[in-house]
Amino acid sequence: MIQRLFDWFLARSFAEWVAFSLVGNVLIFLASVGLCQWLWRRFQHRRLIRAQQPLSRRDLGLAALAVLLNSMVAVVGFGMWKAGLIRLTHPGLLRTLLDVVLFVLAMDFGMYVSHRIAHVPPLFGLLHAPHHLHQRTNALSLFVLHPAEVLGFGALMLAVLVILPLSGLAVLVYLTLNVLWGTLGHAGVEPLPRALFRWPLLRQLGTSTFHAQHHDNPSRNFGFYTLLWDQLFGTVDPDYPRWTQTGPPL
Ligand SMILES: [Zn+2]
Ligand SMILES: [Zn+2]
Repeated sequence: MIQRLFDWFLARSFAEWVAFSLVGNVLIFLASVGLCQWLWRRFQHRRLIRAQQPLSRRDLGLAALAVLLNSMVAVVGFGMWKAGLIRLTHPGLLRTLLDVVLFVLAMDFGMYVSHRIAHVPPLFGLLHAPHHLHQRTNALSLFVLHPAEVLGFGALMLAVLVILPLSGLAVLVYLTLNVLWGTLGHAGVEPLPRALFRWPLLRQLGTSTFHAQHHDNPSRNFGFYTLLWDQLFGTVDPDYPRWTQTGPPL
């Protein structure tokens, strides 16, 4: 069933894929903004920021450009898949789950390293500063990135896909998780109950609180999906455990 869906996509023309990528990325953007705003209203009692960053025309422009560039990356990925550079497999459930974990960990490491490099001057001022003008985040923050950062993330993802032949379904699951994590990280609220933070697995996962803390103190918490690399390199904010239990001092 899934394999037939992938075969159908592979048989599409270049023009059809361009249209599909554009529509798909606009829908992803709208879903993320909608979820972010819903979370902000629903979890006001668990705020991580006093108020959201006001919307600006510059941010709208950068977000629109990010959606366009993400569509371009999808088109390039399609071309690489058609050319056989990217190989997608269709294994059973267990291997698919393993591929999701593998893809998340590989991307998490690549994103941790590139994120740390992006914080080194003068790269920070040239590339990453627009994202950090949002000390308080809003529903657009996930997409308020320098165009080079958007393309860098896309290139990293395509490079991992060239190196690792992964399950097609695992790639779709990863893309969904990526938007979900990014949205949660910029929601400005912590929707997870405090008791859950005592679970050993959750203590290893990047949460809304974890990324909100990075916007508050940009010298800590560089990871996205997990805390593994921050723990390994000693960059977890020492206040993180306290924030997960009492929230930030607002
Ligand atoms: Zn951010
Ligand atoms: Zn940063």
